Amino acid sequence: MIRSNDLAGVKSIAIGGHVRPDGDCVCSVMALYHYLKKEIPEAQIDVYLEEPPVVFQILEDIEVIKSEFNTDACYDAFFALDCNEERLGDAQPIFARAKRRINIDHHISNMGCGSEWVVEPEKSSTAELLYEMMDHSLVDEEIAKAIYLGIAHDTGVFRFSNTSPRTMEIAAELLKFGFDFSALIEETYYEKTYLQSQIMGRAILGSVRFMDNRCIVSMVSRRMMEFYCVGPKDLDGIVNQLQGIKGVDCAIFMYETGTLEYKVSMRSNGTVDVSKIAVKFGGGGHVRAAGCMMNGTYHDNINNLSQEIATQLK
Ligand code: AMP
Ligand code: MN
Ligand code: MN
Repeated sequence: MIRSNDLAGVKSIAIGGHVRPDGDCVCSVMALYHYLKKEIPEAQIDVYLEEPPVVFQILEDIEVIKSEFNTDACYDAFFALDCNEERLGDAQPIFARAKRRINIDHHISNMGCGSEWVVEPEKSSTAELLYEMMDHSLVDEEIAKAIYLGIAHDTGVFRFSNTSPRTMEIAAELLKFGFDFSALIEETYYEKTYLQSQIMGRAILGSVRFMDNRCIVSMVSRRMMEFYCVGPKDLDGIVNQLQGIKGVDCAIFMYETGTLEYKVSMRSNGTVDVSKIAVKFGGGGHVRAAGCMMNGTYHDNINNLSQEIATQLK
């Protein structure tokens, strides 16, 4: 699907990923960009993605990403990575117009979309899946870096249960390219600005445990974000921090995106299938990490989510 023999006649390509792109999404998009440049040098390749978090400027050619989607271009092929069609945001009409609509993803909640798809939920990340689809003789240091970093982000740096023996083998193969993996991970995953650390502290201080302390929830309002001069991209890592608290089976973090509108992130240690809950509310994800948008008051949303959790814990 990403090899030249399968892309005969394809002269124009677009690559896109999900709204609010995370590490796996940004890195997968860039890895495929670099790879297709080598695999089909004569093709025109455009990348459509919402502006990535600034830390990903560490990736070569990240500036090729177009965050303006007002085009009526019709591409021979559009690759939608790390999401289904609905989550492409404003790139959705460009995808819909493409002659070949190719979907590559690892979300269990994605049934596949477009004209052809590969969705493998057992893969740690879209980056890992892409690597398995590549001709490895074409993989160079830039591609290796992007794949490695995408995997590192979606596995919580090879820590989450989606990390398989094969994930580690791939990481080992990629490390042979000799890039500074330690700096890549430190600067894109662990390092937080002072304000990002402050809002994380604030979110944890304001958290509430319920259901015998097995669940924890916290919320950041628009007013709080204004006070700390931060945006949604600065809230990464808060939900994982909540999930890491001893005794917690399920963590919920939400931030206000509009009037009575919240972006919800859920994490679980496997006791609760948070993907099922997210799907109920129009979102999706994986068993241990999922998300959705919710309308209503903060308390109504918690009530609705906790009912679903309670049903599963029974
Ligand atoms: P988040 O907490 O938003 O970072 O999401 C956790 C996991 O669920 C990631 O793998 C996301 O890609 C996925 N996810 C989040 N929101 C949605 C959604 N609305 N639809 C499908 N998957 C989602
Ligand atoms: Mn993602
Ligand atoms: Mn992913």
